[in-house]
Amino acid sequence: MNAFDQKLGEHQLKLRRGRVETLQVNVGRKCNQACRHCHVDAGPWRTEMMSEETAQRVADWIQTHRPAVVDITGGAPELSVHFGFLVQIARGAGSRVIDRNNLTILEEPGFQDLPDFLAQHAIEVVASLPCYLPDNVTKQRGAGVYEKSVRGLKKLKRGWLRPRPAVAFGLQSLWARRFPGPQAEIGNGFIARAFPAPNHGN
Ligand code: SF4
Repeated sequence: MNAFDQKLGEHQLKLRRGRVETLQVNVGRKCNQACRHCHVDAGPWRTEMMSEETAQRVADWIQTHRPAVVDITGGAPELSVHFGFLVQIARGAGSRVIDRNNLTILEEPGFQDLPDFLAQHAIEVVASLPCYLPDNVTKQRGAGVYEKSVRGLKKLKRGWLRPRPAVAFGLQSLWARRFPGPQAEIGNGFIARAFPAPNHGN
């Protein structure tokens, strides 16, 4: 018996595996950005991408087990040639699908139809910005990323999205070495900057 099992036994506890609710799929390390904080060290130069064989195995697993959520990440997951395939398989299996979208991908050549594709398949976009202040985003993600990200959000919003940005600002603490402020306050600050009146809500 290992130490972990022994400790559980001391507390009369048993661990039982529950049903898998969420399958997170990392389709590769290629990204159109190269953020300082990236925990997978993704970037435009990365070549490690999911193979066709692996994508097919993942698809087979989804069709067999039908998880409630399929959460697709990378790198920038949309850069995988298997992204659309996995989305369609997962939606066909009845799963909610999350696209971990960096927003600037929407400005890359060849991705002009991405908002329509995401809308057509009712994909949930989880996007992040390190901060709601442009200067701080530049420090962490590079010049022009804040502006591109806001334009990306507006493209999604025009198509179908109602953004909930208050959940997106947890990472500013990484460079600022402090915890972010109240989420609602930060979210409202971002909305005011990115979608200023009278265009707010367009
Ligand atoms: S956008 Fe995300 S995956 Fe791409 S480099 Fe930045 S943190 Fe990494």
